Amino acid sequence: MPELPEVETVCRGLASAMTGRRIVRVTLNRPDLRIPFPPELQKTLTNATITGIERRAKYLLFMLDHGQILLAHLGMSGKMLVMQASDYTPKPHDHVLWELDNGQLFVFNDARRFGLMCLLGADEQEKHPLLAHLGPEPLSNHFSEAYLATALKGKKIELKQALMDQRLVVGVGNIYASEALFMCRLSPFIPAHKASKHAGLLISSIRSVLQAAIESGGSTLRDYVRSDGDLGYFQHHFQVYGREGKSCHICEQTVSRAVQAGRSTFFCQTCQKVNIVKPRGDNR
Ligand SMILES: [Zn+2]
Repeated sequence: MPELPEVETVCRGLASAMTGRRIVRVTLNRPDLRIPFPPELQKTLTNATITGIERRAKYLLFMLDHGQILLAHLGMSGKMLVMQASDYTPKPHDHVLWELDNGQLFVFNDARRFGLMCLLGADEQEKHPLLAHLGPEPLSNHFSEAYLATALKGKKIELKQALMDQRLVVGVGNIYASEALFMCRLSPFIPAHKASKHAGLLISSIRSVLQAAIESGGSTLRDYVRSDGDLGYFQHHFQVYGREGKSCHICEQTVSRAVQAGRSTFFCQTCQKVNIVKPRGDNR
């Protein structure tokens, strides 16, 4: 499933290819993805000009010149491609096609159909049911030390699970939660309230792993817009994720894996001691 850095990379790629473009024709090859398309989708998009594309959590917001917003989510397997319409050959799972006024074609391909597209009014952005419950963006100033320290206080659930709760902060998924906790040497298993006094360090670690992933995704932007759009993950940057049994980059002990709330957590038992909350910051 794409995490925040992948969605941000997609967002930047689409924004640079599509901002200012008018949608001249819309084809829907099926009536729904995870939820039905709104009945007025085709009519609302046709002849609208895209004035900007933004990201909120893992949602993409296509701003349209008449004030409405197209809200889209990639789900588990969604891909959004922009190509010359003349280069297009239909592929299985190409569900939504938009022809643009410059001869390009936008394609939303989603094999597993967990993605979605729906419409928001101009003033609905913060109160729409899909967006209203979301916590602050991790890269924004709203995700401050004071905010996080307060939010973690009194929470007895394990720290990694707390960080993955979208109401606390959006976009810290399974991969980047493991990576950020390793970076600040906090155990994923300590009760969240014990990390409250390390909120500043947690924030800088979370931002750092996300920012590094976004930057490495940036180099794939041109390929993304041009060809198959399969970004994958930025694997070469992972310090612990997926490295079970390999040696820790800091202490050379073996990286461990445990299952937390049904998800794999990768960590170093030596660097991230469960009984000592003593982060040592970024040693990379
Ligand atoms: Zn270690």
